Amino acid sequence: MEKRPLPLIPYPHSIQRQPGSLELIDSLEIFYHPYFQNEMSVFRRQVASLIATEITYIKEEACLFLRQTESEELSSGSYQLDITPSQIHLAARERSSMFAGLQTLVQLMRAGSDAGHLPLQIECMRILDQPNYEWRGFMLDEARHFQGAETVKMILDWMSYLKMNVFHWHLSDDQGFRVESKRFPLLTEIGSYRPATQRGGMLSRKVNMQSHQGFYTQAEISELVEYAADRHITVVPEIDVPGHSSAILAAYPELGCRDRDYVVQPYWGIHSDILCVGQKSTLDFLEQLYGELLDIFPGPYFHSGGDEAPKKRWHRCPRCQELTRQLGYAKVEQLQTYLANHLNRFLQSQGRTMIAWNEVLSEDLDADIIIQFWLGNKTELIDHAKTGRRIILSNYNAYYLDHTYTHSSLEKVYIFDPLFGDLKSHTASILGIEAPLWTEFVPTRARLDWQLFPRLLAIAESAWLGNSRPGYDHFHRRLAGLLPQLEQAGIGYAALDQVDPPAWRRLGSGISLLQEGKGVAEKD
Ligand SMILES: [Zn+2]
Repeated sequence: MEKRPLPLIPYPHSIQRQPGSLELIDSLEIFYHPYFQNEMSVFRRQVASLIATEITYIKEEACLFLRQTESEELSSGSYQLDITPSQIHLAARERSSMFAGLQTLVQLMRAGSDAGHLPLQIECMRILDQPNYEWRGFMLDEARHFQGAETVKMILDWMSYLKMNVFHWHLSDDQGFRVESKRFPLLTEIGSYRPATQRGGMLSRKVNMQSHQGFYTQAEISELVEYAADRHITVVPEIDVPGHSSAILAAYPELGCRDRDYVVQPYWGIHSDILCVGQKSTLDFLEQLYGELLDIFPGPYFHSGGDEAPKKRWHRCPRCQELTRQLGYAKVEQLQTYLANHLNRFLQSQGRTMIAWNEVLSEDLDADIIIQFWLGNKTELIDHAKTGRRIILSNYNAYYLDHTYTHSSLEKVYIFDPLFGDLKSHTASILGIEAPLWTEFVPTRARLDWQLFPRLLAIAESAWLGNSRPGYDHFHRRLAGLLPQLEQAGIGYAALDQVDPPAWRRLGSGISLLQEGKGVAEKD
């Protein structure tokens, strides 16, 4: 008879289940290589919150051994977990792979205990495991609705538990600017506040007069970046330019093409007012702002946006026209490439790699800019991949977690193959996958939980296993084992009878961004 699948998400690449089991009666004795001190301290906190066991450190006769291996034993990025009736051996070369192995162990311990209490039992097995993609990302938009540090920590906790390792933080947009700049204080004094917010669907022109505000101080950012680093998550900040810049323009109107006052937008969608690239002061501003933020975001990547930037204002702006002529461009649209290359060279001079949305793709774009694909010209993207340039896939059709379950059911998200056309022959260019959560329709924590869970678990498995996923039925059976842990942590999720709406409801639902899920509180 086939054994019940172990309740692990993501599922490991290789599991050999063996006879017998290990039992922990009253405590867990540990011995570890000091190189893994940090991983052990996160593990200890996780175990304390999930399982009522005491952890002690001893040299002789420990139950759990963490060992750093030599290169010939294990490949880079992989870990090996051996569970015998008397011991648990976990081996890895790097801290990040040891951390991943510890996450597997915590999931096994949690599953082997009765509601988190000792004694606990884990069956004997050998796991050999490594990630399919090096980039296993999630993006949170805090511009549309500011969520705050506690929610971000919850997300980082669950991402790391699911072996996800990139937190892309969308911190500026038309509806708000969410990070303190000491050099440009008006960005938050003016840009972090909007007096009203659109209500109703994407095309609605109705607003309610509820103000919305919030931003992170630099100290708060640093704390969260460190919290993420402890969990082997890289934070990638995004300051989206030249479009989606109303909040920046409201604070510093001289950065726009028109001599007028701008407002922090109460409306969603695409706005015509974008940054004026025709004047040097705009580029100076961006260099100074990015430069300041690089100090609080020490990671290797910086995202400069570049999506949905209509060029209507540039067409009518004498400065943008003049620069287009000076550069010998045929079209004013090419200023977007000019801006992207300029920012890329600045970021490179600071030792960072730039990421941008796929709208910036053009023949003259610097080759080292990483392209994040969401929607658009697939041929252009494939051409980019063919030359060995790097890509992150955030396919709108399945990985946008702001969609309803009617549009993007759990099954659709799980079985989705992000590699289209010739991308399949250029996988060396694919850094990985990332699921964004845009928050126009996510005003509360309850709504955020419902949108994220359990779909984030499907994303995590796709990122870790790639096309070696064992299938939706298998995933679904394991999911039941992890949902009680969300409950225990006070996190809401869409119930299993909601996540795969029947086909008749999906028919004709179109690209619905309208709310769904009655009973999910809209107000705290
Ligand atoms: Zn201009």
